[in-house]
Amino acid sequence: MRVARVHAVRIDLHTHSDRSDGTDTPAELVRNAHAAGIDVLAITDHDTTVGWDEAARTAEQVGIRLVRGIEVSTRFSGHGVHLLAYLPDPSHPELVAELDRVLEGRDNRLPAILARLREVDIHLAAEDVRRLAGDAAALGRPHVADALVEARVVRSRDQAFAELLGPGGPAYVDRYAADLVRMIHTVRDAGGVTVIAHPWASRHEHGALDGEGLERLRALGLAGLEVDHEDHDRPTRERLRGLAGDLDLVVTGSSDYHGVGKQGHDLGCNTTEPEHLERLLELAARASERSGRETPPVVSGAA
Ligand code: AMP
Ligand code: FE
Ligand code: FE
Ligand code: ZN
Repeated sequence: MRVARVHAVRIDLHTHSDRSDGTDTPAELVRNAHAAGIDVLAITDHDTTVGWDEAARTAEQVGIRLVRGIEVSTRFSGHGVHLLAYLPDPSHPELVAELDRVLEGRDNRLPAILARLREVDIHLAAEDVRRLAGDAAALGRPHVADALVEARVVRSRDQAFAELLGPGGPAYVDRYAADLVRMIHTVRDAGGVTVIAHPWASRHEHGALDGEGLERLRALGLAGLEVDHEDHDRPTRERLRGLAGDLDLVVTGSSDYHGVGKQGHDLGCNTTEPEHLERLLELAARASERSGRETPPVVSGAA
């Protein structure tokens, strides 16, 4: 017998706070998700776990389930890949060391970006970028964009990326990223699970993330693919969903919310099916057990 659904569970597994390039504090992020009717939220700041504690405390207060995660900057066959890592032990030495390396690469890139901007006669001070980055552990191009907006060089983060900071732009500078294969292994060793974020966001070029590449990554322990994401159009989602089905990978959907920092990524605009979350959490529980590490529990939200 089918039980009528009074309220479909809404699950959003990829969001940012101001500890990276979002604009909400972790507490605001959790409160906003609760207000938006999200039942299960993952906080996944770029390359840092510094928002976890505040988010977890708030989740307990407001009564929302919280999954602690990270969106790790990695590289695979020369292409940048964002890897969502859920529920790893945040004190795992190799994970900590590698995230530190990525954060250092972010810091080191700033002077290089500012030098490139000077070449096109745009003069920003590093202190201004850092002031606008506020509490962010992961300094990013969006913060440079904010400084460009403040200096009235552009009107928005979007325009800053389109005209100056994006790939091919005059102030584009690459930075260090972790090796994808190694990071999948590291997260597993830290008792967590991995999902590739927006794998086919660059529509015409999937790099090495084709069927064969994904099959190989699955064999190495990859748990899932983020299929439902704003950067994937309909046909892309359906092809990716089919591939995930063939490879028996977990399928996730999420907003990639950045507060007011990114247009068209409202909380819950894409969601994950409960069965898929369940599978992901089962895999995480198994990884945690095998690793012997102390992994963060899902905040139950039963206030
Ligand atoms: P970075 O992490 O410094 O390499 O910068 C990349 C980040 O910029 C990504 O995490 C995106 O969330 C963000 N981003 C990319 N394009 C845009 C855009 N057009 N508007 C706002 N944020 C963007
Ligand atoms: Fe971002
Ligand atoms: Fe991303
Ligand atoms: Zn993201």
